[in-house]
Order: sequence, then structure tokens, then C-alpha cells
Amino acid sequence: MENGTTREYVGHCLVLALPAQGHISPALQFSKRLVQKRVRVTLVSTIYFFNNLPQNDITSDSNITLETISCGFDEGGYEEAGSLEAYWDSLRHVGSRTLSELVRRLASSGAPPVDCIVYDSHLPWALDVAKGLGLMGASFMTQPCAVDSVYFHAYNKWMKLPLEEDEGKDGISLPALPLLAPSDLPSFLCGYDESDSFKRELGFNQFSNIDKADWVLVNSFYELEHEVVEWMKKIWPLKTIGPTVPSMLMDKRIKDDTNYGISLFNNNDEEACIKWLNHKPKGSVVYVSFGSLATLSENQMEEMALGLKESECYFLWIVRESEESKLPKDFTKMTSEKGIIVKWCPQLQVLSHEAVGCFVTHCGWNSTLEALCLGVPMVGVPQWGDQNTNAKFIKDVWKIGIRVQVDEKGCFTRQEMKECVKEIMKSERGKEIKKNVMYWRNVAINAIGEGGSSDQNIDQFVSDLVHSSQKGHGLI
Ligand code: UDP
Repeated sequence: MENGTTREYVGHCLVLALPAQGHISPALQFSKRLVQKRVRVTLVSTIYFFNNLPQNDITSDSNITLETISCGFDEGGYEEAGSLEAYWDSLRHVGSRTLSELVRRLASSGAPPVDCIVYDSHLPWALDVAKGLGLMGASFMTQPCAVDSVYFHAYNKWMKLPLEEDEGKDGISLPALPLLAPSDLPSFLCGYDESDSFKRELGFNQFSNIDKADWVLVNSFYELEHEVVEWMKKIWPLKTIGPTVPSMLMDKRIKDDTNYGISLFNNNDEEACIKWLNHKPKGSVVYVSFGSLATLSENQMEEMALGLKESECYFLWIVRESEESKLPKDFTKMTSEKGIIVKWCPQLQVLSHEAVGCFVTHCGWNSTLEALCLGVPMVGVPQWGDQNTNAKFIKDVWKIGIRVQVDEKGCFTRQEMKECVKEIMKSERGKEIKKNVMYWRNVAINAIGEGGSSDQNIDQFVSDLVHSSQKGHGLI
């Protein structure tokens, strides 16, 4: 990135990220794109979140200033709150107040005034803060348009929930989307326990005031989901601005942008992982990760472990510290010739490594986009939330992976895992899938590259921002 100290800015965005790995990375990456287009960015998340990051490389980047708001639990964060409900309630109340104070403090500090708050769509109260201060507001969606559209239908009760046992057996038909089986829907829409209903509300809250948003930005790209993008554009001023994978792995226009720079977990095993991969033949390694939040049951850990072992492929498996106790006894020792298990890795570097031939993934949206952008075929093992819908698109629409078959309890067997891995690594279908993912990789690079669909959308966003701020939007 260019040195920001001498540059003239055309506007100032405050980008408010939800304090979670899968949300901060796209917010930060979008911020880098804005800076490249001469927009000043203040990236904001909670005090607790920034105080507890083991790895944060962006403080050295003078183009993006970090600031904080309070969630009301600055010492202990979510754990201190005691429940999801208490945390979100406090984040909304204390977050609104401290966000408003932050904008006013920035204005009086002599910094260029904030023109627009770009907020994670799950924090819709930030739009009320923006409007209350006379600023513009952009909702930033970190899930694909397909998922946002399904939630929007459910929110509007255009789709009947809960589904009866027999309902949707042949698929649920929604505009601009393929037929979706219940197992393809975001899990919170179909779940019946209390926590599902709260998470469903969180999904719905994105739309509570969205009609007031000046823009709706989505971390996706037009070509990937053009039908549903067109459908959603009729409702909101929607722009796809992704994929938010670092520029040096894509269009290479932002020179220092090789990784995300903010990691919730220590990358202590980075060297060991890459060294290990360096000694493996091209396309021979199965990379397994379930992201930053998902947990497997002890039984599923065992099926995963034995499936990998029986596939006889090399594997690199991420098992976070909190999950380690569920590994079968002596598994690491038993398979040391074939695999390594580490607590966290630099996933972008791993997926870009030529030794990696397959990604067994929970289908989180960041992981999905990363695999697509880096040309790695996937075995989808969705766990919850949007992952089901992402897995449906990976397998049936983009054809860049397959999906494990599960029983009525949602569990896969070791046999199934072994077959899926072998299908990607060794079969003709696996070769087709690899071709497809390489096709999508090119489309993604073109979309974010100069003059591509997302690049044009970001240009348009910046140009709208400049015009609107010239028209006199500003702090009241
Ligand atoms: N990730 C990583 N190292 C790991 C596992 C995951 O850097 O060992 C990163 C991954 O690159 C992705 C993010 O964590 O950007 C996970 O986001 P995703 O949306 O896939 O899943 P979530 O964690 O939100 O469920």
C-alpha cells in the first residue's frame, strides 16, 4: 500500500466490524480497497476484541486507523456477559452510545469528518447512529447474496416457517435461486431450540432498518450469483464488492496486501506447517479446517480422524485448542507419517500451497471464497448457519466441490469421509471439479481486478460517497 501520510483523501469511512474472525477480515480487506481509492478509513471493533488479539499486523499500516467502541464487557467480552442475549443487548446499547461518542471525538480531533459508517449488517443499530448524526450508512453483508435473500424471504414471511415434516421435500422455490431442500437452508431457520430462535432473530435484524441504508455492500461478486444479485438490486442499492481475499493473491494491485493481518489465534505453527507442506508432492495433501467457531462432537472427530487415515492421503488438520481433547487417543502418533495436526495455521498460505489438493471445510463463507479464489476443490461438511446454503452452491451450482452425506442426526461416517476425499483427490470427477474451481478463480480475479464488476462497484461507491458528502451530509 502507498504511504498514506502525504495523500489527499476524498472521503472518510468508519468501518464497524463485528468482533469475530469471519467478520473482521472482510471488513479490513474492504477497508484496504477503499484506501487504495483514496478513502480514509477508521476501522472499529470492540475494546475487548482488540485487547485480546494475539496477532495484529495492521497497527503498522498508517492508512487505516484502529479505534474501539465498548460492548459493555471490556474485561471479559462474551464470557463475561454470560449469554448471547445479554451480550447482544449490551453491544447494541453501549455500542450505540460509544459509537456516537467516537464519531464526535474524531470530528473534534481535527481528523477529516466521517462521511459514512460502513457497518456489519448484523449491527443494524449502527445505521441508526449514522442517521442520527446526519451521516450516510452502508450495510456490509459478510454472507453471500443467496443466503441474505433466503433470510430476507423468511423475515418477510414470504416463506413459511417452521417447515412441517413433509414440507419442502422436493425443494423450496424462491426467486432467482435453485430449489433448496431443508438441509440447504440456513440452519437457524429450521432449528427449533431457543438459541436457534435467537440466532434467527439476529439474521432477521439485518433487515430491520435496511431501507434507510444508502448502500448495501456484499462480500461476493456479480458473476458468481448474478441472478439473485439482480433480484436483490431491485429492492436495495446493492453492490457486490468481493471477494475480499488479499490483493496479492488476486489482482496484485495492493503491494503489501498478502494476508489479513488480524488473527484471533496464534499462528505459532506457521513455520512448521509450511515446512511440512514443502516436502509433499503437488496436490497430495488434504487440508481440514472447521474455521474459528464450529465444534465437532467426539464421535464426529473420530469419524473424521479415521476417514482421513483410511484415505491414505497426506493431511494437515486444524484442531483448535478447545477441541484437542476430542481427538482419538494416540491418533497423532499413529498417523505421524501421513499427517500433522496443528491448532491454527495461516490458511491463505496453506490454500495457496501447491501441495494442497483438497479442502475439507465447514463451508464458512470466508473459507469458501478463499478456496474458490485459490483454486482448491472442497469437501463440504457444513455445520450450521449459512454453511448449509454455501455447501449447496459449492456442490450443485458452481460445482467446485462435493458434500458429505449425513444421516438423520447430521452425522457422517469414516467410510463416507474417506470416499469423499478420494473422489476429489483421485477420480475423474475430482479433475472436473478442479477445472471448475480454476475457472471460478479466474472469474473472481477479473471481478476484483481493474475494471472488473466489483472494482467498478467500489469505484461507484466512492464516487457516490464523494458526491453525497459534497452535497452537505455531515455531522449534526
Ligand atoms: N482461518 C485461519 N487459520 C485456520 C483456520 C481458519 O486463518 O487455521 C481463517 C480462514 O482463512 C477464514 C477464517 O479463519 O478467513 C474463518 O472464516 P469462515 O467464514 O470460513 O468461518 P467462521 O470461522 O466464521 O465459522
